[in-house]
Amino acid sequence: MSELFPSQRIQILLPLPLSGVLDYLVSGDFNLKEGDFVTVPLSGRQVQGVVWDMDPKESGVPTEKLKYVTANSELPALPLNLMEFVKWVSDYTLSPLGSVLKMALSVPRGSDKPKKKILYKIAADLPSKLTKSQNRVCDAAISDMPLSVQAWCDVAVVGQGVIRGMIKTNLLIPVEVYGEEQFMTPDIDLESAILSDEQRTAADHIILQQKSDTYNCILLEGVTGSGKTEVYFEAIAEALGKENSQILVLVPEIALTTQWLERFSERFGAPPVIWHSEMTPAQRRRAWWATIRGEARVIVGARSALFLPLKNLKLVIVDEEHSQTFKQDEGVMYNGRDMAVVRAMQSHCPIVLASATPSLETLINAENGKYDWLYLGERHGPAELPQMASVDLRVHKLNAGSWISEPLFTALKENYGRGEQSLLYLNRRGYAPLTLCRSCGHRMECPHCSAWLVEHHKFNRLECHHCGFNRIVPDQCPGCEAKESLVACGPGVERVAEELQNLFPDARLAVMSSDEISSPKALKEMIENIENHNVDFIVGTQIVTKGYHFPMLTLVGVIDADLGMSGADPRAAERTWQQLEQVAGRAGRAEHPGRVIFQTYNPDHPVLQALISGDKDLFLEQEAASREAQNLPPYGKLASLILSGPDKNKVINACKHLARLAPHSDDISVLGPVPAPLSYLRGNYRYRFLVKATTKVKIQNEIRDWLDKIPANRGVRIQIDIDPYSFY
Ligand code: ADP
Ligand code: ZN
Repeated sequence: MSELFPSQRIQILLPLPLSGVLDYLVSGDFNLKEGDFVTVPLSGRQVQGVVWDMDPKESGVPTEKLKYVTANSELPALPLNLMEFVKWVSDYTLSPLGSVLKMALSVPRGSDKPKKKILYKIAADLPSKLTKSQNRVCDAAISDMPLSVQAWCDVAVVGQGVIRGMIKTNLLIPVEVYGEEQFMTPDIDLESAILSDEQRTAADHIILQQKSDTYNCILLEGVTGSGKTEVYFEAIAEALGKENSQILVLVPEIALTTQWLERFSERFGAPPVIWHSEMTPAQRRRAWWATIRGEARVIVGARSALFLPLKNLKLVIVDEEHSQTFKQDEGVMYNGRDMAVVRAMQSHCPIVLASATPSLETLINAENGKYDWLYLGERHGPAELPQMASVDLRVHKLNAGSWISEPLFTALKENYGRGEQSLLYLNRRGYAPLTLCRSCGHRMECPHCSAWLVEHHKFNRLECHHCGFNRIVPDQCPGCEAKESLVACGPGVERVAEELQNLFPDARLAVMSSDEISSPKALKEMIENIENHNVDFIVGTQIVTKGYHFPMLTLVGVIDADLGMSGADPRAAERTWQQLEQVAGRAGRAEHPGRVIFQTYNPDHPVLQALISGDKDLFLEQEAASREAQNLPPYGKLASLILSGPDKNKVINACKHLARLAPHSDDISVLGPVPAPLSYLRGNYRYRFLVKATTKVKIQNEIRDWLDKIPANRGVRIQIDIDPYSFY
């Protein structure tokens, strides 16, 4: 190493599940700064990491034992705000820092240097006489942004021949660019919706916050169809007006929001940059690069978009903020909604949480004044909120093997007769949730999980919805070998569709569940079929609750409104209310009035009362009071610890050890261990502890101290879930 540049000790974070940073030496002529990508040796391999601390406090490892940084990288440095965010998420979720960094580095590798490419831009001097197609191309140009041949064809709607011709005659000029093709910039000057007074007030409030460049969290609550999307589009337009600003929109299931994307493109003349886990590596690379270079202006994505290198974040939107899909239940267990609030806070920008059915957490924060609270009480235009009623199944008894009651059938018949669309909702995939033997009572269970196998008629298979194990439906009982004795118990969407088809043999049916919808394209086709009224009846799982707007849909029937009401989940009632309110919100969204019918054995349940009376406040107050009394979220803190492993005794012993050392005080208690409801999953035995704490203590510190007391146990995995949403 040269004398001029003495070497220095620095800390590097590697995207590996290690607990923290590692010390390395670097020679000064590398000229590194925090956030830079480097290559370092680690147990004989060369790995990529990020410079985390250029001036670390002394650590235990003596200098002579340290290795040197091998190479620096041409990749742009990770923005400091992203490093700060990674650190925060790691501390909060008790996940290794390296595991969180890994989520932020889902794309770049040292070898991923952007490739050179030739794109074409419009010539500065154009002759006055152009052909009609050439004029189209010039009109489609967005300032002097260069595009590929295919992109020109797409934006100008012309053939490749036209573009090639223009290149030959120097009307389009080649430009060499690095990296991926640019994204189009949204245009804020296009025509926008004329907002109602209510909508205008809400939009103005967000815009005002947005102008001040400070953090503020705003709940945008509005009944289904009230125009929340239109309102935040206005806020996005305003934020886009700031130079180089970036806007992040989180949505629950990106693949399911084709209607949203079309609306965005219509409003802004360009599609947003999309980010989700099912993208190809090439698509990811393009979006990641566009983000770090600042070209990506509006990014719409799933929760993982939070870890994109957004340098100039000016506005965050979380749509359907109550949605459980924001919670990641594997690996780093984090809640995308909550972490979005942190990201906004660290970026000093406002965040909007939008929903027709806000979570209790968010509502309490709004009530306390921690969040601003905007409310839209009316549906847009002539649309009115649907009429809701329940059918008491104790009175209107179902026939054996039938799931549609007489009153629901009558309503379906009327609606069908009028040529309007109806939706039947049941949040259960497949044909039947349980198959059992009529002779011996044997239940068809998964060999790897403590779960029943679900029959899927379509494939003549029994499937485990937890691990994916499946087998064909046997023709004799595996227990007593009786022939043709297996019977399906209970309904899934396939079975309801079968009944419906028998009742209305000529009707056109669509089943919306993840089994029927194999790709975004298949989904798009189905949506178009429904929009174009090529479908009379839709039978669907929770997929249908995701913000769709079907103008001809006027009747919603809920097959089993009691489903999901019970169980260990403290949010069971809240979630059922949210799902039912959302599915009900699909009815009567245009000029035709809507109706909703809930089939139930418990019409007096507060959830149903709230839905039918339209007065959710009483229900939410009761829900809040009961949570407060039990010190459950949002009044207290919960964390769950799942211990799992293939050797049951080892797992139990580790549990006993932990139980002896569990913290106990006025502010913290530990329940368990008990076998998890899914006590056997993918060949692993599972036991769980539930940690309950008041807000006076920091639950993370308590858990960290507790786990530090026991040695790592081979063959037993401990998963920590802070703020758990899954109780299986
Ligand atoms: P939400 O997000 O609250 O469910 P949307 O924003 O999807 O509501 O609005 C419901 C429907 O009403 C959409 O088709 C939307 O385009 C339309 N809409 C809402 N507000 C307006 C407005 N101010 N002008 C025109 N159309 C509107
Ligand atoms: Zn299984």
